Amino acid sequence: AAKAAGRNCIRFFVPEMDTELQARIELERAIREAVLNDRFELHYQPLFEIPQRRLAGFEALIRMPAADGTLIPPLAFIPVAEDLRLIDKIGAWVLRQACRTAATWPAHLTVAVNLSPQQFVAGTISDIVAVALRESGLAPHRLELEITEGLLLGNTEAIVSQLLSLKAMGVAIVMDDFGAGYSSLNYLWRFPFDKIKIDRAFMQGLDGPHCQVGAVVKAIIALGRELHMRVTVEGVETASQAAFLDTADGDQVQGFFFGRPVPASELGASILAGFARTMPPASPVTELHV
Ligand code: C2E
Ligand code: MG
Ligand code: MG
Ligand code: MG
Repeated sequence: AAKAAGRNCIRFFVPEMDTELQARIELERAIREAVLNDRFELHYQPLFEIPQRRLAGFEALIRMPAADGTLIPPLAFIPVAEDLRLIDKIGAWVLRQACRTAATWPAHLTVAVNLSPQQFVAGTISDIVAVALRESGLAPHRLELEITEGLLLGNTEAIVSQLLSLKAMGVAIVMDDFGAGYSSLNYLWRFPFDKIKIDRAFMQGLDGPHCQVGAVVKAIIALGRELHMRVTVEGVETASQAAFLDTADGDQVQGFFFGRPVPASELGASILAGFARTMPPASPVTELHV
C-alpha cells in the first residue's frame, strides 16, 4: 500500500511542480524579453490635495503585458525581476518614462515613482535620476521618489547619503506604506522625508470593528506634522473612508474611490475632465478640479 501511495504521490506531485517551475521559467523569460524591448507599461493613479480637492499629481505604477494581452501586476513580477538583478534596468526605464510623461502635464502636477531597495546597491541612483530629469526637462521638484522602510534596514549610512544627494537635487523623498511593517517608527526619524504615505491597511481597518484605527491615522498625521512631513492617506475605496478624511488633517489622498490607475494615453482626457467626482455629503466641497 505504501508503495502504491508513493507511486501516486510521484504521479500526482511531479507534474504539478513541473507546472510551477515552468511558470517561473516562463515569467523569467517574459521579464528578460520585456527588458530587452522596453515592453512595460506605466499606469498613473491620481493624488489629490485634501483641503482644496485639487489634483496634485500621479503615482506611476508599472505593469508587464503578458502574451495573452492581459497585464501582469507589479507584485507578480517585480520580486522576480529583483532575483534576476534586472530591477535596475526596469527602474531606470520607469524613471525616464515617468519623467517624460509628466513633462507633458500642467506644470503644477507631480509624478511619483517607486524605487526598489536594489536600485540603491550600485550607488548610481542619483545619476540615473539626473539623466531622467535632464532628458525630459522635468523640474526636479515635480518628481517624488517613493521608498519603503525595507530600504533603511541595511547599510543605512550609504543609503542615507544617496537619499540626501537626491534631495539636494530638489527631488522629494517619500516613505511609502507607512505603518505596514514592524519598524516604520524606527526609520522615520533617520531621514528627513518630504512625505509619508499611510499604508492602505489603515483605511481598510476603518470599515472593520476596530474603532481605534481612525485615532491611529490621526496620530500618524500629527506625527508627520511634528516632523514637517506631508502626509498622504492611501487606499481610500469607499464614501465612508472618504468622509473620514474630513475629520482628519491629512494633506493628500489616493485611492480607488477618487481614481484608479489608468494608462498614460487616457490621462489627457482625464486631466481635462478634471477628475470631477462628487464628494460624500460630509464634505462641503463637491468637485475635484485640476
Ligand atoms: P504602492 O507603491 O503602495 O502603490 C499603490 C498600490 O495600491 C497600487 O497597486 C495601486 O493600484 C493600489 N491601490 C491604490 N489605491 C487603492 C485602493 O483604494 N484600494 C486598493 N485595494 N488598492 C489600491 P499596484 O499597481 O498593483 O502596485 C503594487 C506595488 O508594486 C506598489 O505599491 C509598489 O510597491 C510596487 N510597484 C509598482 N510600480 C513599481 C515600479 O515601477 N517599481 C517598483 N520597484 N515597484 C513598483
Ligand atoms: Mg508607492
Ligand atoms: Mg503605498
Ligand atoms: Mg504597497
